Amino acid sequence: MKKSELATEIYLRLKTVHPDAHCELHHTNPYELLLATILSAQCTDVRVNMVTPALFKKYPTPQKLAKAKLEDVEETIKSINFFRNKSKSLIGCAQKLVADHHGKVPQTVEELSDLPGVGRKTANVVLGNAFNINTGIVVDTHVKRTAHLLGLTKETDPAKVEIDLMKLYPNEQWTDLSHLLIFLGRRTCLARRPQCDLCNLKDICISKDKFLKARQKAKDGTKLKVVGKSSLRK
Ligand code: SF4
Repeated sequence: MKKSELATEIYLRLKTVHPDAHCELHHTNPYELLLATILSAQCTDVRVNMVTPALFKKYPTPQKLAKAKLEDVEETIKSINFFRNKSKSLIGCAQKLVADHHGKVPQTVEELSDLPGVGRKTANVVLGNAFNINTGIVVDTHVKRTAHLLGLTKETDPAKVEIDLMKLYPNEQWTDLSHLLIFLGRRTCLARRPQCDLCNLKDICISKDKFLKARQKAKDGTKLKVVGKSSLRK
């Protein structure tokens, strides 16, 4: 199968298992998604979703957050890693939104990346999910790992993985593809124990044999240990 055909097949199959794949950071508008995405750096979506209801309630607009006291924001998000730096980023981001964008979230990578705490990845998340603008592919740890395991890229640097994926998929699929690979990585292709037996990509996945062999070896090892123990008892 040609790589472009493989890429299409992977997309279609994932779409059948996860037709509802979506951004798992809770939000109701672009401003909330921007804050949640800043908080999600090196942190799980589940943990972020635990603190954002209180954060959004306390600071429902960039104007409110721009005037917030640092220690108050820190107190609100203190269960998140790097909460001190992230609090500074949130306030700085809100101040810039107010000063340069009339309190609105901008809709270009350049303007978004200029906000404190926002890099290309965050910009892609916000543009793709809040505005339906596909400027790139979000490459998080799940996308990087699963794309590699499936043979869609040989790269390990997220920026290079993104370029490889962008060449393989049409622009309108970029945001969706990222959700699909994240769903795969969180639900089936788990980092420590990929569930290859249950995966609907197993017949086209170049890594499946490696994991199935490793599992078989582990099973054989356990059996040998049990046999060894029972013969010792005799
Ligand atoms: S077959 Fe296994 S390694 Fe390949 S994508 Fe599925 S779970 Fe991951």
